[in-house]
Amino acid sequence: MNLVELSWPQIAALAPETPVVFPIAAIEQHGHHLPLWTDSLLLGEIIRRVALPLEDRVLFAPLMWLGNSDHHLDFSGTLSAPPRTYLDLLSGLADNMIQRGFRRLVFINGHGGNDIPSKQAIFELRQKYRQRADLLLTMTTYWSLGAQPWLQEPSLHQREMGHACEWETSMVLRLAPQLVGDYRQAATVEPGNPFRPGTRAWITKDRTQPGHIGWPQLATAEKGEVLLSLFAEDVVRWLERIVAWDGKSWDG
Ligand SMILES: [Zn+2]
Repeated sequence: MNLVELSWPQIAALAPETPVVFPIAAIEQHGHHLPLWTDSLLLGEIIRRVALPLEDRVLFAPLMWLGNSDHHLDFSGTLSAPPRTYLDLLSGLADNMIQRGFRRLVFINGHGGNDIPSKQAIFELRQKYRQRADLLLTMTTYWSLGAQPWLQEPSLHQREMGHACEWETSMVLRLAPQLVGDYRQAATVEPGNPFRPGTRAWITKDRTQPGHIGWPQLATAEKGEVLLSLFAEDVVRWLERIVAWDGKSWDG
């Protein structure tokens, strides 16, 4: 179900157990060869594929194109909600639906900078509604659900998501090749090891001059289809678990 195509009485009549999904993406620089719309384009496609098998069981809000991209602001065109603004935005969206009776709130993320704010948003909402035992407040990032795409496509070089990298460039090549610039000439920008497994704070220009991180020159549309289909399958399986939750257990 598509939230924006329904009337308010139709929304009010839905079962409170209906999961409400907020797809959260970004508009931000993606190097010299990919468009600013990249994260929104890719998450939109994942959601389009995921919605087909879940059509009558899950309510999908429209994709939120404004994300937390402050770390990319040194590159032109990036639009960002500062972290605290973004946190309040996500909390507010979920709370709108909780106050109308919905109990299963889901953020599906398609941009690294949204990861921590969306986790913090659901964590804070859990504290706010601490007297409730029937709420399921969840988030995931679509490429973080365990997919190992290199097992199906051994020519994939990267083992994790970069930025405007082999993975993202492949997926945009699959969906909108007319928007892809000269990725074949893009030089490798190694992801490096910033004090892993600890966490080092960064802005994008600490790590890359052109704006990408990874191996965009290795991208192909065929790799892109493998990535999109595996990621969409993962998200469907994960949402099936949200639908199947018994409404009270910790496990799910
Ligand atoms: Zn991206």
